[in-house]
Amino acid sequence: MELGIQGKTALVTGASKGIGQAVAEALAREGVRLFLVARSQDRLAVLADRLQKDGAEVQYLAADLTEPGNTERVLKAARDFGPVELFLGNTGGPPPGTAESLPPEAWQGAFDLLFLPMVRLVQGLLPDMKARGFGRIVFITSLSVKEPVANLALSNAIRAGLTGYLKTLAREVAASGVTVNAVAPGYTRTERVEALFAHQAREEGVPVDAIYRRIEAQIPAGRLGRPEEVAALAVFLMGKPAAYVTGQTWVADGGYLRFLL
Ligand code: NAD
Repeated sequence: MELGIQGKTALVTGASKGIGQAVAEALAREGVRLFLVARSQDRLAVLADRLQKDGAEVQYLAADLTEPGNTERVLKAARDFGPVELFLGNTGGPPPGTAESLPPEAWQGAFDLLFLPMVRLVQGLLPDMKARGFGRIVFITSLSVKEPVANLALSNAIRAGLTGYLKTLAREVAASGVTVNAVAPGYTRTERVEALFAHQAREEGVPVDAIYRRIEAQIPAGRLGRPEEVAALAVFLMGKPAAYVTGQTWVADGGYLRFLL
């Protein structure tokens, strides 16, 4: 399928690892110019170097997006690089914990990580997107927005809030050629998930393979997803053919969730 985004500029946050990195790689293959953001300068440098060797045009900025001043720095640098028409909004997952026990600081931290940077970046990018009559905003959320996951109260609640924001925004800007969607991954084999499973195995005193087998048994596909499989959905949503698709959350979970719609 011809996505029609060659030569356009994308801002990809959380780009140094996992799903964000896979989106950056997939966009590079489509000939998209990339502005990459994550916390680790070293990892971004290695990724940018690799993508540039493959012919992509790439710039990057190491920034912790929980600091408000950093979203301004990112916006300025990304706009200087090119008119940003594609935005992949992604950061790391919040810590686990129950709704009953998490202290207010943890809720504030998750809000500052998952919600506020997305709003700040979108508000900075929208005027250009609307003026150009084309924009694609895709957030990476989680299947927890469809079915809350036990002990992930922060993810369940704050990402649900972001989903309410995206639905509202999508309707506000739909007539200007800007779409707003979310991709909700199920279990996806990234470094973060590998670290979580290793931690779980140590806690239980079992081999890490046992943790994988237990999770895989719950997934109809019989395996965890690959970052590039989640990325493919995000990149499709950024393409011209997806112009009439907005305000939705799209799940990539190997059939894990049981609800109908
Ligand atoms: P990851 O930890 O592998 O990568 C996260 C990326 O975000 C990294 O590039 C990191 O540098 C960046 N990041 C983290 N905090 C940041 C901050 N404060 N400022 C700027 N950048 C920051 O995560 P992943 O597994 O690729 O997951 C991506 C998102 O999808 C996360 O929010 C995660 O919770 C969610 N998710 C993942 C899965 C899964 O199975 N992997 C499932 C559901 C939801």
